[in-house]
Amino acid sequence: MGEAVDVGQLHIMASHRDCGGSGVAGGVEGAHLVGAAERVASPFDDAGLSAGSVVRANEPMSRLTTLRVGGVADWYVEPGAEEDVGVIVRCCVARGLPLLVIGHGSNLLVRDGGVRGVVMALRQAAFCGVAVEGTTVLCGSGAPLRLVARAACDAGVSGFEFMDGIPGTVGGALRMNAGAFGGSTFGVLQRVRYMEKGGTVREGAAEEFGAEYRGCRFFKDKVVLGAVFKGVVDSSAAIRERMEEMRRRRLAMQPREWSAGCVFKNTSAGAAGWLIDRAGLKGFKVGRAAVSGVHANFLINEGGASAASTTSF
Ligand SMILES: Cc1cc2nc3c(=O)[nH]c(=O)nc-3n(C[C@H](O)[C@H](O)[C@H](O)COP(=O)(O)OP(=O)(O)OC[C@H]3O[C@@H](n4cnc5c(N)ncnc54)[C@H](O)[C@@H]3O)c2cc1C
Repeated sequence: MGEAVDVGQLHIMASHRDCGGSGVAGGVEGAHLVGAAERVASPFDDAGLSAGSVVRANEPMSRLTTLRVGGVADWYVEPGAEEDVGVIVRCCVARGLPLLVIGHGSNLLVRDGGVRGVVMALRQAAFCGVAVEGTTVLCGSGAPLRLVARAACDAGVSGFEFMDGIPGTVGGALRMNAGAFGGSTFGVLQRVRYMEKGGTVREGAAEEFGAEYRGCRFFKDKVVLGAVFKGVVDSSAAIRERMEEMRRRRLAMQPREWSAGCVFKNTSAGAAGWLIDRAGLKGFKVGRAAVSGVHANFLINEGGASAASTTSF
């Protein structure tokens, strides 16, 4: 799978080149898109992907990440169905292509040189379902955390309030063990369906995966396909009130600009934002990237920032 470098809690996507073209003809869309001016052979031609799948060449990663920086991915693919994930994974292994799975790109900093190989996002409807049965919440990997929180709230199931303001997907939340306001993904997780590098689908219980604070390395080389969570009964009104309070607190303490959330993990010496603030770095800028003046653990893109300026911090 693709290379991600852990820096605190943000994942910096490694690139093997600094800048410029990817060696693939420019801006040409793949097999499942119309209007391509020129057709480039894709690694998935003749692989048998379902009609709902999307394949594109030279996809700007700045469009796929909330920080809005980064060069192009050689290939971008959205599988239309679960069988397609297996096809893509096996195809990448057979061709020796690095594969990076992304969710909403809300915890990624992609370098200006872009990403070599294939970026896969489980964004199609087949992966984004959320169903509540009693206090059990069943989710596809691509389901936005906000929808998980809202579906649980509507069904009178508590435990998912913290997810409401986190702009990621279930897959990304499992890899990151995303959390807020005392809640965490693994705190409510029961089971996960995932695909191994060779294409085998497995299922396991939460305690098998060894999650830690803001991370679960187990999923580093896997594709999360879906998850089952468990909450507790509460009134929708009480849950909604708690979510509203969390929303107010976020609005007061988080910047509105493009960002990837908090960059550094908190330490035993104090919260990362507090330490950065004490170092006098709030508002410090490099090019169009800056340490947020609202929350010092957020690096923000003021518009047109490069990854180089963002990583120079
Ligand atoms: C404004 C803002 C506020 C935020 N607030 C919080 C917060 O309160 N708490 C918090 O924990 N985080 C927060 N974040 C960070 C981020 O939203 C979380 O880390 C989130 O879980 C990332 O999910 P994603 O789908 O965007 O994953 P991505 O950023 O796309 O990917 C993150 C990692 O997960 C991996 N991954 C993604 N999908 C899959 C999959 N299906 N299978 C295997 N691996 C996968 C990627 O390879 C990558 O290593 C915030 C970010 C922003 C921009």
